[in-house]
Amino acid sequence: MEVENIEVFVIKENEKIIFNGYAYTVHHILASCIRWKCSNKISKKCPGILVTFNDYKNPTIEVEHSHAGDENLETVEKAKFEMLKRVSTFSTSTPSQIFAEVINQVPEPALTSFENEETTKRIL
Ligand SMILES: [Zn+2]
Repeated sequence: MEVENIEVFVIKENEKIIFNGYAYTVHHILASCIRWKCSNKISKKCPGILVTFNDYKNPTIEVEHSHAGDENLETVEKAKFEMLKRVSTFSTSTPSQIFAEVINQVPEPALTSFENEETTKRIL
């Protein structure tokens, strides 16, 4: 059996990932690894840098963040991901219906980390 790796959650290939409560956007794609910068680099002036292999394995913090992570981030992003998936699968549902369906399955503590309904529906 394979040893379980610590994995990052890939939101968009070669663009955005979540690891350990922080979101990262791609910084540099190198031959054997990818360097990611904190998604709060501008808003929080965060210097946080994460490095992973090209297959997103072995995530290593290279530069520490200047702020706390959000443990609900992954739940929230997964819910958004699920919404987007449903939009393309069930074309008969409206964004409002899909938002309501998915948000029902989001655990209570994560709801506070959710952007408001209007903001979220705009991405659908
Ligand atoms: Zn950061």
